[in-house]
Amino acid sequence: MSYREPAKYLFLGVIFLSLIMLSGCAGRRNLVRGKALYDLKKEAVSVKGEEYVSLSLMCGVYGVKWDYDPVSYRVVLKKDGHKAIVMANSNSFILDGRYYVHLKPVILYDDNIYVPFSMVEDKFDRVFNPYYYQVPSTKVYSIRTVVIDPGHGGKDPGAIGRKGLQEKDVALDISKKLRNILEDNGFKVVMTRDTDNFISLRRRADISNKIKADFFISVHANAARNRSARGFEVFYLSDAMDDNARAVAAAENAVLELEDEFELKHSNALDAIVWDLLYDEYRIESKEMAASLCESMQRDSIGKNRGVKSARFYVLKGVRSPSVLIEVGFISNSSEESKLRSTSFRKQIAQALAKGIINYKQRYEETEGFTN
Ligand SMILES: [Zn+2]
Repeated sequence: MSYREPAKYLFLGVIFLSLIMLSGCAGRRNLVRGKALYDLKKEAVSVKGEEYVSLSLMCGVYGVKWDYDPVSYRVVLKKDGHKAIVMANSNSFILDGRYYVHLKPVILYDDNIYVPFSMVEDKFDRVFNPYYYQVPSTKVYSIRTVVIDPGHGGKDPGAIGRKGLQEKDVALDISKKLRNILEDNGFKVVMTRDTDNFISLRRRADISNKIKADFFISVHANAARNRSARGFEVFYLSDAMDDNARAVAAAENAVLELEDEFELKHSNALDAIVWDLLYDEYRIESKEMAASLCESMQRDSIGKNRGVKSARFYVLKGVRSPSVLIEVGFISNSSEESKLRSTSFRKQIAQALAKGIINYKQRYEETEGFTN
């Protein structure tokens, strides 16, 4: 046996092994594509003749982060810039900003959320399975365009203080001051109104949606029967609300009575489910923004911090971006009424709000939409 032979065998061996590995890679590639679906199908349960898989299992298999709101039964799913929202007992869902209707609904089964296997196969597998998106998502996480919505206006004065201060004037002045500060900091700002005119709630949302705002802030001042009530609070849209939040929402939504009947009918005709799902699309961001504004107002000692709250505000419901509504103080409280009358106090509020928005922007951009 010559000394060359082991080398020859070694050489052949290497070629043989490479062939196995190459075919193994190719095979594995195909397996990856189908493996998630295969694993899920194994665990599927049959409900009324349809195959269902548990949502938590699906998220585990694909490595999807999820956030469940037990009050509304909505679930937000996120992975690598992809985002889906599903709702128990609904056929409708949102995937990467698009609205879909599936043949079978998402269901609550055994106290867990289950999705039709066919929904996973047709839609979710294609966005959450890494096999399909070797090219990274190109979504850009930046905040540039802000819509400021000064509450009320024209024939709708909003709340009125004992000494005659009107909410619509306070809201407009703070909003203008906020606009100037944000513009100085490089934001593009659009106001829903910059004079004392009446605009419907629906129109305010339309203005924001038309320019595809990165977020929307509605500025208000509060009123309460209890004249000692004081402080600021920041709201985001949700079905979950306490009595106080319900009262604030009722007061802010009351303007609907002044609105054009045609316009109201038109907005009621909107697909309620689409809006329900869309607002959930921005719930996490809206909550973060509300917290950021509250922190900033507290740091600048604007008043008593009543906290971040959620309620059903009509104006926020139509907005297709993260959105918050701030009540800067109580016009019904005589000491806060006099403070809100002062230009320097309004400027302090605008500065605190601007800082809150800038902090939010930084965190949003650094964490790529709070996903990291
Ligand atoms: Zn108001």
